[in-house]
Amino acid sequence: MSKNTPQAIRGTQDIFGVDAEAFAFVVETFERVRKLYRFRRVEMPVFEKTEVFARSIGETTDIVSKEMYSFEDRGGESLTLRPEFTAGIARAFLTNGWQQHAPLKVATHGPLFRYERPQKGRYRQFHQIDAEIIGAAEPQADVELLAMADQIIRELGIEGVTLHLNTLGDADSREAWRAALVEHFRAVKDELSEDSQERLEKNPLRILDSKDRRDRKFVADAPKIDQFLSDEAKAFFDAVTSGLDAAGVKWTRAESLVRGLDYYRHTAFEFIPDEGSDAAGKLGSQSTILGGGRYDGLMESLGGPATPAVGWAAGIERLAMLVGDIAEPGAELAVIPLGGDAEVRATEVAQHLRNEQFSVEVFARGNVKKRFNRADQSGAKAAIIIGEDELASGKLQFKDLATGEQEAVEMDDLTDRAWDLRLEDDFDAMDERLDKLEEDVRSLGERD
Ligand code: ATP
Ligand code: MG
Repeated sequence: MSKNTPQAIRGTQDIFGVDAEAFAFVVETFERVRKLYRFRRVEMPVFEKTEVFARSIGETTDIVSKEMYSFEDRGGESLTLRPEFTAGIARAFLTNGWQQHAPLKVATHGPLFRYERPQKGRYRQFHQIDAEIIGAAEPQADVELLAMADQIIRELGIEGVTLHLNTLGDADSREAWRAALVEHFRAVKDELSEDSQERLEKNPLRILDSKDRRDRKFVADAPKIDQFLSDEAKAFFDAVTSGLDAAGVKWTRAESLVRGLDYYRHTAFEFIPDEGSDAAGKLGSQSTILGGGRYDGLMESLGGPATPAVGWAAGIERLAMLVGDIAEPGAELAVIPLGGDAEVRATEVAQHLRNEQFSVEVFARGNVKKRFNRADQSGAKAAIIIGEDELASGKLQFKDLATGEQEAVEMDDLTDRAWDLRLEDDFDAMDERLDKLEEDVRSLGERD
Protein backbone atom coordinates (compact mmCIF):
# COMPACT_ATOMS: atom_id res chain seq x y z
CA MET A 1 0.00 0.00 0.00
CA SER A 2 1.47 3.36 -0.92
CA LYS A 3 0.83 6.61 0.89
CA ASN A 4 -1.64 7.70 -1.73
CA THR A 5 -3.84 4.58 -1.51
CA PRO A 6 -7.28 5.94 -0.54
CA GLN A 7 -8.51 5.03 2.96
CA ALA A 8 -12.02 3.78 3.73
CA ILE A 9 -14.55 6.43 4.77
CA ARG A 10 -14.66 7.02 8.54
CA GLY A 11 -17.50 5.06 10.12
CA THR A 12 -17.67 2.43 7.38
CA GLN A 13 -16.61 -1.16 7.91
CA ASP A 14 -15.08 -3.86 5.74
CA ILE A 15 -16.57 -7.01 7.20
CA PHE A 16 -14.66 -10.23 6.66
CA GLY A 17 -14.19 -13.80 7.93
CA VAL A 18 -15.91 -14.83 11.16
CA ASP A 19 -17.54 -11.39 11.45
CA ALA A 20 -18.99 -11.66 7.96
CA GLU A 21 -20.31 -15.13 8.86
CA ALA A 22 -22.01 -13.74 11.99
CA PHE A 23 -23.51 -10.96 9.87
CA ALA A 24 -24.82 -13.51 7.34
CA PHE A 25 -26.20 -15.68 10.15
CA VAL A 26 -28.27 -12.73 11.41
CA VAL A 27 -29.67 -12.08 7.94
CA GLU A 28 -30.37 -15.78 7.27
CA THR A 29 -32.14 -16.19 10.61
CA PHE A 30 -34.23 -13.08 9.92
CA GLU A 31 -35.15 -14.39 6.44
CA ARG A 32 -36.15 -17.79 7.83
CA VAL A 33 -38.21 -16.47 10.75
CA ARG A 34 -40.00 -13.72 8.78
CA LYS A 35 -41.38 -16.48 6.54
CA LEU A 36 -42.81 -18.26 9.59
CA TYR A 37 -44.75 -15.07 10.33
CA ARG A 38 -45.68 -14.60 6.65
CA PHE A 39 -43.92 -11.27 6.12
CA ARG A 40 -43.38 -10.48 2.42
CA ARG A 41 -40.01 -9.36 1.13
CA VAL A 42 -39.54 -5.82 -0.25
CA GLU A 43 -36.48 -4.14 -1.76
CA MET A 44 -36.29 -0.39 -1.31
CA PRO A 45 -34.20 2.38 -2.90
CA VAL A 46 -31.11 3.45 -0.97
CA PHE A 47 -31.92 7.10 -1.58
CA GLU A 48 -35.10 9.16 -1.59
CA LYS A 49 -36.08 12.78 -1.92
CA THR A 50 -34.98 14.51 1.28
CA GLU A 51 -38.55 15.48 2.17
CA VAL A 52 -39.52 11.80 2.53
CA PHE A 53 -37.41 11.71 5.71
CA ALA A 54 -37.73 15.34 6.79
CA ARG A 55 -41.53 15.25 6.81
CA SER A 56 -42.00 11.83 8.37
CA ILE A 57 -39.20 11.45 10.91
CA GLY A 58 -39.53 15.08 12.04
CA GLU A 59 -37.36 18.15 11.45
CA THR A 60 -36.32 18.45 15.10
CA THR A 61 -35.15 14.87 15.56
CA ASP A 62 -31.43 14.08 15.77
CA ILE A 63 -31.65 12.09 12.57
CA VAL A 64 -33.06 14.88 10.42
CA SER A 65 -31.35 17.83 12.09
CA LYS A 66 -27.81 16.41 12.33
CA GLU A 67 -27.38 12.91 10.92
CA MET A 68 -28.60 12.82 7.32
CA TYR A 69 -26.36 12.45 4.30
CA SER A 70 -28.13 14.89 1.99
CA PHE A 71 -26.84 16.21 -1.31
CA GLU A 72 -28.02 17.89 -4.46
CA ASP A 73 -27.96 15.69 -7.53
CA ARG A 74 -26.97 16.99 -10.94
CA GLY A 75 -30.54 18.07 -11.57
CA GLY A 76 -30.52 20.26 -8.45
CA GLU A 77 -32.85 18.01 -6.45
CA SER A 78 -32.15 17.43 -2.73
CA LEU A 79 -31.70 13.72 -2.11
CA THR A 80 -30.81 11.80 1.05
CA LEU A 81 -29.19 8.42 1.64
CA ARG A 82 -31.77 6.57 3.71
CA PRO A 83 -31.14 6.88 7.49
CA GLU A 84 -33.93 4.34 8.18
CA PHE A 85 -36.37 2.12 6.29
CA THR A 86 -39.81 3.09 7.57
CA ALA A 87 -40.20 6.45 5.80
CA GLY A 88 -39.28 4.99 2.41
CA ILE A 89 -41.63 2.03 2.86
CA ALA A 90 -44.43 4.44 3.83
CA ARG A 91 -43.69 6.51 0.71
CA ALA A 92 -43.82 3.34 -1.41
CA PHE A 93 -47.09 2.27 0.21
CA LEU A 94 -48.66 5.55 -0.92
CA THR A 95 -47.05 5.94 -4.35
CA ASN A 96 -47.57 2.31 -5.44
CA GLY A 97 -51.12 1.86 -4.23
CA TRP A 98 -50.10 -0.87 -1.80
CA GLN A 99 -53.25 0.02 0.16
CA GLN A 100 -54.94 -2.80 -1.78
CA HIS A 101 -52.73 -5.30 0.10
CA ALA A 102 -53.49 -3.95 3.58
CA PRO A 103 -52.90 -5.19 6.15
CA LEU A 104 -49.49 -5.52 4.54
CA LYS A 105 -46.67 -7.31 6.34
CA VAL A 106 -43.26 -6.55 4.82
CA ALA A 107 -39.65 -7.25 5.72
CA THR A 108 -36.38 -5.96 4.32
CA HIS A 109 -32.73 -5.47 5.22
CA GLY A 110 -29.77 -3.46 3.95
CA PRO A 111 -27.49 -0.48 4.54
CA LEU A 112 -28.46 2.81 6.21
CA PHE A 113 -26.45 6.02 6.54
CA ARG A 114 -26.19 8.44 9.44
CA TYR A 115 -23.57 11.09 10.10
CA GLU A 116 -22.77 10.10 13.70
CA ARG A 117 -19.65 9.98 15.83
CA PRO A 118 -18.27 6.51 15.04
CA GLN A 119 -17.63 4.25 18.06
CA LYS A 120 -18.20 0.64 19.06
CA GLY A 121 -21.58 -0.44 17.66
CA ARG A 122 -22.15 2.94 15.99
CA TYR A 123 -21.16 3.53 12.39
CA ARG A 124 -21.92 5.94 9.55
CA GLN A 125 -22.92 3.11 7.27
CA PHE A 126 -24.65 0.39 9.22
CA HIS A 127 -27.23 -2.27 8.41
CA GLN A 128 -30.65 -3.15 9.71
CA ILE A 129 -33.21 -5.87 9.48
CA ASP A 130 -36.66 -4.28 9.38
CA ALA A 131 -40.27 -5.43 9.66
CA GLU A 132 -43.46 -3.43 9.24
CA ILE A 133 -47.21 -4.10 9.39
CA ILE A 134 -49.11 -1.39 7.52
CA GLY A 135 -52.85 -0.86 7.65
CA ALA A 136 -53.46 -2.75 10.89
CA ALA A 137 -54.97 -0.86 13.82
CA GLU A 138 -55.33 -3.88 16.13
CA PRO A 139 -53.04 -4.50 19.10
CA GLN A 140 -52.62 -8.06 17.76
CA ALA A 141 -50.41 -6.59 15.02
CA ASP A 142 -48.08 -5.15 17.68
CA VAL A 143 -48.04 -8.52 19.43
CA GLU A 144 -47.26 -10.49 16.26
CA LEU A 145 -44.46 -8.10 15.33
CA LEU A 146 -42.92 -8.27 18.80
CA ALA A 147 -43.25 -12.05 18.97
CA MET A 148 -41.30 -12.23 15.71
CA ALA A 149 -38.56 -9.94 17.09
CA ASP A 150 -38.36 -12.09 20.21
CA GLN A 151 -38.12 -15.31 18.20
CA ILE A 152 -35.36 -13.91 15.97
CA ILE A 153 -33.29 -12.93 19.01
CA ARG A 154 -33.86 -16.35 20.61
CA GLU A 155 -32.98 -18.22 17.42
CA LEU A 156 -29.79 -16.19 17.14
CA GLY A 157 -28.92 -17.68 20.53
CA ILE A 158 -28.74 -14.23 22.15
CA GLU A 159 -29.40 -14.23 25.89
CA GLY A 160 -29.76 -11.51 28.50
CA VAL A 161 -31.77 -9.13 26.34
CA THR A 162 -35.20 -7.87 27.44
CA LEU A 163 -38.09 -6.15 25.71
CA HIS A 164 -38.65 -2.71 27.26
CA LEU A 165 -42.18 -1.60 26.52
CA ASN A 166 -44.05 1.66 26.81
CA THR A 167 -47.15 3.35 25.45
CA LEU A 168 -47.19 6.94 24.25
CA GLY A 169 -50.99 6.91 24.19
CA ASP A 170 -53.17 8.33 21.44
CA ALA A 171 -52.85 11.91 20.14
CA ASP A 172 -54.82 13.40 23.07
CA SER A 173 -52.98 11.49 25.80
CA ARG A 174 -49.68 12.35 24.21
CA GLU A 175 -50.55 16.06 24.02
CA ALA A 176 -51.55 16.22 27.70
CA TRP A 177 -48.39 14.37 28.68
CA ARG A 178 -46.31 16.71 26.56
CA ALA A 179 -47.75 19.77 28.29
CA ALA A 180 -46.96 18.29 31.72
CA LEU A 181 -43.41 17.47 30.62
CA VAL A 182 -42.82 21.01 29.39
CA GLU A 183 -43.95 22.35 32.77
CA HIS A 184 -41.73 19.87 34.64
CA PHE A 185 -38.59 20.54 32.62
CA ARG A 186 -39.11 24.30 32.35
CA ALA A 187 -38.73 24.56 36.13
CA VAL A 188 -35.17 23.18 35.87
CA LYS A 189 -34.34 24.50 32.42
CA ASP A 190 -30.96 26.04 33.36
CA GLU A 191 -29.69 22.73 34.69
CA LEU A 192 -30.51 20.76 31.55
CA SER A 193 -28.01 20.03 28.77
CA GLU A 194 -27.90 22.58 25.95
CA ASP A 195 -29.53 20.07 23.60
CA SER A 196 -32.39 19.49 26.00
CA GLN A 197 -32.93 23.20 26.57
CA GLU A 198 -33.54 23.42 22.87
CA ARG A 199 -35.73 20.31 22.85
CA LEU A 200 -37.87 21.82 25.58
CA GLU A 201 -39.50 24.19 23.13
CA LYS A 202 -39.44 22.07 20.00
CA ASN A 203 -39.75 18.46 21.06
CA PRO A 204 -39.90 17.93 24.86
CA LEU A 205 -40.55 14.17 24.68
CA ARG A 206 -37.07 13.80 23.28
CA ILE A 207 -35.58 14.95 26.58
CA LEU A 208 -36.67 11.58 28.01
CA ASP A 209 -34.44 9.91 25.42
CA SER A 210 -31.42 12.07 26.30
CA LYS A 211 -28.17 10.25 26.97
CA ASP A 212 -26.69 13.30 28.76
CA ARG A 213 -26.06 12.71 32.47
CA ARG A 214 -27.21 16.25 33.39
CA ASP A 215 -30.69 15.40 32.08
CA ARG A 216 -30.96 11.94 33.61
CA LYS A 217 -31.94 12.96 37.15
CA PHE A 218 -34.77 15.17 35.93
CA VAL A 219 -36.01 12.45 33.62
CA ALA A 220 -36.32 10.03 36.53
CA ASP A 221 -39.00 12.08 38.31
CA ALA A 222 -40.72 13.48 35.22
CA PRO A 223 -44.51 12.96 34.93
CA LYS A 224 -45.42 9.52 33.61
CA ILE A 225 -47.71 8.84 30.65
CA ASP A 226 -50.04 6.60 32.69
CA GLN A 227 -51.77 9.55 34.41
CA PHE A 228 -52.71 10.95 31.02
CA LEU A 229 -53.85 7.83 29.19
CA SER A 230 -57.39 7.84 27.81
CA ASP A 231 -59.51 4.72 28.49
CA GLU A 232 -59.05 3.69 24.87
CA ALA A 233 -55.29 4.09 24.95
CA LYS A 234 -55.15 2.13 28.19
CA ALA A 235 -57.29 -0.70 26.74
CA PHE A 236 -55.00 -0.83 23.70
CA PHE A 237 -51.89 -1.15 25.84
CA ASP A 238 -53.54 -3.81 28.04
CA ALA A 239 -54.36 -5.83 24.90
CA VAL A 240 -50.73 -5.61 23.78
CA THR A 241 -49.34 -6.76 27.13
CA SER A 242 -51.81 -9.63 27.54
CA GLY A 243 -51.06 -10.71 23.96
CA LEU A 244 -47.35 -10.74 24.72
CA ASP A 245 -48.00 -12.81 27.85
CA ALA A 246 -50.04 -15.28 25.79
CA ALA A 247 -47.21 -15.54 23.23
CA GLY A 248 -44.69 -16.11 26.02
CA VAL A 249 -42.74 -12.94 25.23
CA LYS A 250 -41.08 -11.54 28.37
CA TRP A 251 -41.27 -7.76 28.72
CA THR A 252 -40.72 -5.03 31.24
CA ARG A 253 -42.45 -1.67 31.52
CA ALA A 254 -40.22 1.32 30.69
CA GLU A 255 -42.16 4.46 31.53
CA SER A 256 -39.73 6.97 30.05
CA LEU A 257 -39.02 5.12 26.81
CA VAL A 258 -39.96 7.41 23.92
CA ARG A 259 -37.76 6.59 20.89
CA GLY A 260 -35.99 9.23 18.86
CA LEU A 261 -38.53 9.72 16.07
CA ASP A 262 -41.61 11.92 16.02
CA TYR A 263 -44.08 9.62 14.39
CA TYR A 264 -44.77 7.12 17.16
CA ARG A 265 -48.17 6.60 18.87
CA HIS A 266 -49.29 3.98 21.38
CA THR A 267 -46.75 1.18 21.54
CA ALA A 268 -43.03 2.02 21.69
CA PHE A 269 -40.36 -0.54 22.49
CA GLU A 270 -36.69 -1.45 22.55
CA PHE A 271 -34.82 -4.68 23.15
CA ILE A 272 -31.98 -3.82 25.53
CA PRO A 273 -29.25 -5.97 27.14
CA ASP A 274 -29.86 -6.57 30.87
CA GLU A 275 -27.56 -4.73 33.21
CA GLY A 276 -24.47 -6.79 34.04
CA SER A 277 -25.25 -9.37 31.34
CA ASP A 278 -22.72 -10.69 28.84
CA ALA A 279 -24.62 -8.83 26.14
CA ALA A 280 -24.29 -5.51 27.99
CA GLY A 281 -20.57 -6.19 28.36
CA LYS A 282 -20.16 -6.76 24.63
CA LEU A 283 -22.13 -3.74 23.47
CA GLY A 284 -20.99 -1.14 25.96
CA SER A 285 -23.07 1.99 26.10
CA GLN A 286 -24.48 1.57 22.60
CA SER A 287 -26.93 -0.88 23.89
CA THR A 288 -30.27 -0.80 22.12
CA ILE A 289 -30.31 -3.60 19.59
CA LEU A 290 -33.86 -3.36 18.26
CA GLY A 291 -36.36 -0.53 18.43
CA GLY A 292 -39.73 0.37 17.05
CA GLY A 293 -43.34 1.13 17.69
CA ARG A 294 -46.66 2.18 16.26
CA TYR A 295 -46.62 5.05 13.78
CA ASP A 296 -50.28 5.83 13.10
CA GLY A 297 -49.47 9.45 12.16
CA LEU A 298 -46.74 8.87 9.59
CA MET A 299 -48.77 8.33 6.40
CA GLU A 300 -50.59 11.62 6.93
CA SER A 301 -47.32 13.50 7.32
CA LEU A 302 -46.50 12.27 3.78
CA GLY A 303 -49.86 13.46 2.47
CA GLY A 304 -51.57 10.06 2.57
CA PRO A 305 -54.76 8.93 4.29
CA ALA A 306 -54.64 8.10 8.00
CA THR A 307 -53.16 4.60 8.07
CA PRO A 308 -52.33 2.70 11.24
CA ALA A 309 -49.01 0.87 11.19
CA VAL A 310 -46.39 -0.64 13.44
CA GLY A 311 -42.79 -1.66 12.81
CA TRP A 312 -39.29 -2.25 14.11
CA ALA A 313 -35.68 -2.23 13.02
CA ALA A 314 -32.62 -3.86 14.52
CA GLY A 315 -28.95 -3.17 13.90
CA ILE A 316 -27.34 -6.16 12.17
CA GLU A 317 -23.85 -5.21 13.44
CA ARG A 318 -25.07 -5.03 17.05
CA LEU A 319 -26.89 -8.37 16.73
CA ALA A 320 -23.80 -9.90 15.10
CA MET A 321 -21.63 -8.68 18.00
CA LEU A 322 -23.89 -10.59 20.40
CA VAL A 323 -23.87 -13.69 18.22
CA GLY A 324 -20.05 -13.71 18.37
CA ASP A 325 -17.66 -15.37 15.96
CA ILE A 326 -19.10 -17.93 13.60
CA ALA A 327 -16.61 -20.22 11.90
CA GLU A 328 -16.63 -20.13 8.15
CA PRO A 329 -18.18 -23.39 6.91
CA GLY A 330 -15.70 -26.04 5.74
CA ALA A 331 -15.67 -27.73 2.36
CA GLU A 332 -17.43 -31.08 2.01
CA LEU A 333 -15.08 -32.48 -0.58
CA ALA A 334 -11.52 -31.80 -1.71
CA VAL A 335 -10.26 -32.55 -5.22
CA ILE A 336 -6.51 -33.07 -5.52
CA PRO A 337 -4.94 -33.31 -8.98
CA LEU A 338 -1.40 -34.65 -9.01
CA GLY A 339 0.43 -33.37 -12.06
CA GLY A 340 -0.48 -30.85 -14.72
CA ASP A 341 -2.39 -33.33 -16.86
CA ALA A 342 -4.76 -34.05 -14.00
CA GLU A 343 -5.86 -30.46 -13.62
CA VAL A 344 -8.37 -30.48 -16.46
CA ARG A 345 -9.87 -33.65 -15.06
CA ALA A 346 -10.03 -31.99 -11.60
CA THR A 347 -12.01 -29.11 -13.07
CA GLU A 348 -14.43 -31.58 -14.61
CA VAL A 349 -14.84 -33.56 -11.36
CA ALA A 350 -15.29 -30.43 -9.21
CA GLN A 351 -17.89 -29.03 -11.59
CA HIS A 352 -19.80 -32.30 -11.61
CA LEU A 353 -19.94 -32.38 -7.79
CA ARG A 354 -20.88 -28.71 -7.47
CA ASN A 355 -23.72 -29.26 -9.94
CA GLU A 356 -24.85 -31.98 -7.53
CA GLN A 357 -24.87 -29.38 -4.70
CA PHE A 358 -21.67 -30.39 -2.90
CA SER A 359 -19.24 -27.73 -1.72
CA VAL A 360 -15.90 -28.51 -3.31
CA GLU A 361 -12.44 -27.00 -3.20
CA VAL A 362 -9.66 -27.92 -5.63
CA PHE A 363 -6.13 -28.08 -4.17
CA ALA A 364 -3.71 -27.75 -7.06
CA ARG A 365 -0.98 -25.55 -5.55
CA GLY A 366 2.21 -26.46 -3.69
CA ASN A 367 3.80 -29.86 -3.29
CA VAL A 368 1.80 -33.04 -2.70
CA LYS A 369 2.15 -32.84 1.07
CA LYS A 370 0.88 -29.24 1.11
CA ARG A 371 -2.10 -30.17 -1.00
CA PHE A 372 -3.13 -32.89 1.42
CA ASN A 373 -2.55 -30.65 4.43
CA ARG A 374 -4.72 -27.94 2.96
CA ALA A 375 -7.41 -30.47 2.08
CA ASP A 376 -7.39 -31.64 5.71
CA GLN A 377 -7.62 -28.07 7.00
CA SER A 378 -10.51 -27.26 4.66
CA GLY A 379 -12.75 -29.51 6.76
CA ALA A 380 -13.44 -31.80 3.80
CA LYS A 381 -14.57 -35.29 4.75
CA ALA A 382 -13.13 -36.89 1.65
CA ALA A 383 -10.55 -36.14 -1.00
CA ILE A 384 -10.85 -37.19 -4.63
CA ILE A 385 -7.34 -37.82 -5.88
CA ILE A 386 -6.42 -37.77 -9.55
CA GLY A 387 -2.95 -39.01 -10.49
CA GLU A 388 -1.41 -40.57 -13.57
CA ASP A 389 -2.90 -44.01 -12.82
CA GLU A 390 -6.34 -42.49 -12.50
CA LEU A 391 -5.99 -40.63 -15.77
CA ALA A 392 -5.05 -43.91 -17.45
CA SER A 393 -7.78 -46.03 -15.86
CA GLY A 394 -10.52 -43.39 -15.92
CA LYS A 395 -11.20 -44.13 -12.24
CA LEU A 396 -10.69 -41.80 -9.29
CA GLN A 397 -9.25 -42.37 -5.82
CA PHE A 398 -11.81 -41.61 -3.12
CA LYS A 399 -10.14 -41.09 0.24
CA ASP A 400 -12.13 -40.85 3.46
CA LEU A 401 -10.08 -38.23 5.31
CA ALA A 402 -11.39 -39.28 8.73
CA THR A 403 -10.45 -42.97 8.47
CA GLY A 404 -7.75 -42.71 5.81
CA GLU A 405 -9.43 -45.49 3.82
CA GLN A 406 -8.98 -45.12 0.12
CA GLU A 407 -10.40 -46.93 -2.91
CA ALA A 408 -10.81 -46.54 -6.64
CA VAL A 409 -14.27 -45.47 -7.80
CA GLU A 410 -15.85 -44.92 -11.20
CA MET A 411 -16.85 -41.35 -12.06
CA ASP A 412 -20.45 -42.58 -12.26
CA ASP A 413 -20.34 -43.75 -8.63
CA LEU A 414 -18.77 -40.57 -7.29
CA THR A 415 -22.01 -38.78 -6.47
CA ASP A 416 -23.30 -41.85 -4.60
CA ARG A 417 -20.16 -41.97 -2.50
CA ALA A 418 -20.41 -38.27 -1.70
CA TRP A 419 -24.05 -38.67 -0.74
CA ASP A 420 -23.20 -41.58 1.57
CA LEU A 421 -20.77 -39.33 3.42
CA ARG A 422 -23.26 -36.52 3.78
CA LEU A 423 -26.03 -38.86 4.87
CA GLU A 424 -23.90 -40.34 7.66
CA ASP A 425 -24.41 -37.03 9.49
CA ASP A 426 -28.08 -36.84 8.61
CA PHE A 427 -28.60 -40.40 9.83
CA ASP A 428 -26.95 -39.55 13.14
CA ALA A 429 -29.33 -36.61 13.53
CA MET A 430 -32.29 -38.81 12.60
CA ASP A 431 -31.23 -41.46 15.09
CA GLU A 432 -31.19 -38.86 17.82
CA ARG A 433 -34.63 -37.65 16.81
CA LEU A 434 -35.99 -41.23 16.80
CA ASP A 435 -34.57 -41.87 20.28
CA LYS A 436 -36.32 -38.74 21.51
CA LEU A 437 -39.63 -39.77 19.90
CA GLU A 438 -39.40 -43.24 21.47
CA GLU A 439 -38.83 -41.63 24.83
CA ASP A 440 -41.87 -39.36 24.35
CA VAL A 441 -44.04 -42.35 23.41
CA ARG A 442 -42.79 -44.26 26.46
CA SER A 443 -43.58 -41.40 28.83
CA LEU A 444 -47.03 -41.02 27.28
CA GLY A 445 -47.61 -44.74 27.88
CA GLU A 446 -46.60 -44.35 31.51
CA ARG A 447 -49.03 -41.48 31.97
CA ASP A 448 -52.10 -43.49 30.73
P1 ATP B 1 -29.45 4.97 19.30
O1 ATP B 1 -30.26 5.42 20.45
O2 ATP B 1 -28.47 3.86 19.62
O3 ATP B 1 -28.87 6.08 18.49
P2 ATP B 1 -31.65 4.95 17.50
O4 ATP B 1 -32.82 5.20 18.36
O5 ATP B 1 -31.08 6.06 16.71
O6 ATP B 1 -30.48 4.22 18.34
P3 ATP B 1 -33.14 3.46 15.58
O7 ATP B 1 -33.23 4.57 14.63
O8 ATP B 1 -34.34 3.05 16.31
O9 ATP B 1 -31.94 3.70 16.58
O10 ATP B 1 -32.51 2.18 14.85
C1 ATP B 1 -32.78 0.86 15.31
C2 ATP B 1 -31.51 0.10 15.57
O11 ATP B 1 -30.56 0.31 14.55
C3 ATP B 1 -30.77 0.50 16.82
O12 ATP B 1 -31.34 -0.10 17.94
C4 ATP B 1 -29.39 -0.03 16.54
O13 ATP B 1 -29.31 -1.41 16.75
C5 ATP B 1 -29.24 0.24 15.08
N1 ATP B 1 -28.52 1.50 14.84
C6 ATP B 1 -29.00 2.75 14.82
N2 ATP B 1 -28.04 3.63 14.53
C7 ATP B 1 -26.91 2.91 14.33
C8 ATP B 1 -25.55 3.25 13.97
N3 ATP B 1 -25.18 4.49 13.75
N4 ATP B 1 -24.65 2.23 13.87
C9 ATP B 1 -25.01 0.95 14.10
N5 ATP B 1 -26.27 0.57 14.42
C10 ATP B 1 -27.20 1.54 14.54
MG1 MG C 1 -29.45 7.36 16.98
